[in-house]
Amino acid sequence: MRLTIVYDNEAVVRLKSGWGFSCLVGENVLFDTGADYKTLLFNMQQLKIDFAEINTIVLSHAHGDHTGGIEIVRQLGDVRVFVPSSFFPPIRRLLSGFRNVETVEVTTMIEIVEGITTTGEIDRTEQSLIVQTSKGLVIVTGCSHPGVDTIMSIAEEHGPVRGIIGGFHGFDRLGLLGDLEMIVPCHCTKHKRRILSEFSKTSSHCAAGMIFEL
Ligand SMILES: [Zn+2]
Ligand SMILES: [Zn+2]
Repeated sequence: MRLTIVYDNEAVVRLKSGWGFSCLVGENVLFDTGADYKTLLFNMQQLKIDFAEINTIVLSHAHGDHTGGIEIVRQLGDVRVFVPSSFFPPIRRLLSGFRNVETVEVTTMIEIVEGITTTGEIDRTEQSLIVQTSKGLVIVTGCSHPGVDTIMSIAEEHGPVRGIIGGFHGFDRLGLLGDLEMIVPCHCTKHKRRILSEFSKTSSHCAAGMIFEL
């Protein structure tokens, strides 16, 4: 399965950068929507992403830099939007005018589509994704407000974790990343430079337009 970064603080040439995060997991699942619909749409068009394939959106948490581009539903066919329980009512209200949208409230861990599971809402704030790959699990995070260590220990209940991609927030227990093969700190990561230098063989830079084979 491939993961495409479509919105990030940094971008490859020809794409736009912006404070926020969004990525496409496989072809069907859009995880977060960045801060701004126009930037998100521009980047997705430049990347020639097939809107007809996207049938699922997952919003990690309530912050505007992850939910601001939600109007992307205008480009889609029937789509289910998975929202943590703590901010489900306002998002449902916001999306109530769209006939193609079904809003789904998330509390506990559930499989969203085959091979992609949400951790469920952690600490009444945020959900992350756990993606099954042939080589192990890869975690996809928004900002990691509940803590990368907490998110990792929830995912580990399902099997060995081999990678993590997304915002790491203020996470600094870097030793916990030692066994991973794929470390991709994006958008909201305080210690990004330290992570990239300490794990120079297993970590990668993140930018809108980059594609990772999971
Ligand atoms: Zn946040
Ligand atoms: Zn953020």
